[in-house]
Amino acid sequence: MPPRLEPTPCVRGSDAVRAEPTPVAPESRTPRSRLEESPGSRTLPAMTSKKQLRTYVTNDPGYMENGYTVSLRDGGPCWIIDPGYPPQARKIIAHVREHKLLPQAILLTHGHLDHIAGVDALRRDLGDASTEGAPLPVYLARAEWDALSDPEVNLSGFLGLELRTAVRDPRDLVPEETLELDGTKWRIIDTAGHSPGGRSFYCQELGVVIVGDALFAGSVGRVDFPTSDGQQLLHNLRTHLMSLPDDTQVLSGHGPETTIGRERTTNPFILGGF
Ligand SMILES: [Zn+2]
Repeated sequence: MPPRLEPTPCVRGSDAVRAEPTPVAPESRTPRSRLEESPGSRTLPAMTSKKQLRTYVTNDPGYMENGYTVSLRDGGPCWIIDPGYPPQARKIIAHVREHKLLPQAILLTHGHLDHIAGVDALRRDLGDASTEGAPLPVYLARAEWDALSDPEVNLSGFLGLELRTAVRDPRDLVPEETLELDGTKWRIIDTAGHSPGGRSFYCQELGVVIVGDALFAGSVGRVDFPTSDGQQLLHNLRTHLMSLPDDTQVLSGHGPETTIGRERTTNPFILGGF
């Protein structure tokens, strides 16, 4: 029998894959994270440089997905990572305007519905700051480009939501290539497994990795979807993420932030597998 496909946030429970009903009010979910309690601007302490990453986090009430806007200074370039369902896009646009940020790109860690639902609204209102009039570039691993227009692939079809974005010009995210944000270098890391083209973004200088649904505080992404591969996810987590410095801050697609060291020593899936 095929696995049940739930609208829950692609989060695997620490005991088993949890089945939950269709989107529930956030207050009825398991403990609200620090991020969820106080969404807004934060500055992550830099580990190895004077530069500091400014991280603005928004959530949607149904999936509690973390949409990130990252920048280093007011008036500087920013990336928007995994913009999800309303009110995320509206809040992100307001944040960008308030801080006079210059959007450079939308980065998608993967193509599940709760991580891509805000893309069109952002592209309508925010152009590419470096090329006047051009649409904001959208980056997603080639293996998941179908998710942008195919509800079955982005999982919305299973939920009767039929999400199709208008993006027809995605750009690839090739593992080990580098992206640059305001003078900081970010390595694209292969964290596929929860989805076939899952990617993470790591900045050594700032000591931060943004991981989508590959890794959570105390858990890992669900692997019971048709395109998931649990062993691939474990391999990528152990090989590519657990090799990062212990004090690297981990920003996940759902729930609170954590560190590589904490997950390496306490995460039951990293330690014991599935
Ligand atoms: Zn997901």
